[in-house]
Amino acid sequence: MALILPGIASLEQHLSALLTHPEGYRPKRCPHCGRAGLWCHGCYGRKADRDRGGTLNPIAIARFRCPGCCRTCSRLPECIPPHRWYLWAVQQWALLALLAGRSCRALSREGMPGRHTLGRWMHRWRERFHLHAFALCQHDPGWGRYPGMATLWPAVLACMPLSAAMILVQHVGIAIP
Ligand SMILES: [Zn+2]
Repeated sequence: MALILPGIASLEQHLSALLTHPEGYRPKRCPHCGRAGLWCHGCYGRKADRDRGGTLNPIAIARFRCPGCCRTCSRLPECIPPHRWYLWAVQQWALLALLAGRSCRALSREGMPGRHTLGRWMHRWRERFHLHAFALCQHDPGWGRYPGMATLWPAVLACMPLSAAMILVQHVGIAIP
């Protein structure tokens, strides 16, 4: 299970924070059983850098182990999404462009990602929309006046980046993305 550390907006900031303040990554409690006092359990490498030819890869991700249930969890910086290869910033760009009516094919011609990846993302965003909307409206009931994806997401993303919105979604117990 991956928990997210808010406030880390770039891979460079993450690498520097992991070196200088590694304690900041330790979760207060085990996400599985709730026990405090997790142990550091090394790092694993994530291929998260796609913008600079991958020069920063592999990106170290801190892992922790629970002394109670012995299960492990990891702590991702805000900029790296769980399960997806592309950073939140790229997903935000794609989401807004697709909602504005651009096609997956046209966007993929402008660079990454490919149209099949974009299609999969859009399918998932549509499928999960009611959960995302529920979680976001818990944070700001005013967003309830935007009834559909095409209006809610642009309103939310004018206030915060997609990475921060997804942390709100995760906070109410909904898996992301
Ligand atoms: Zn535990």
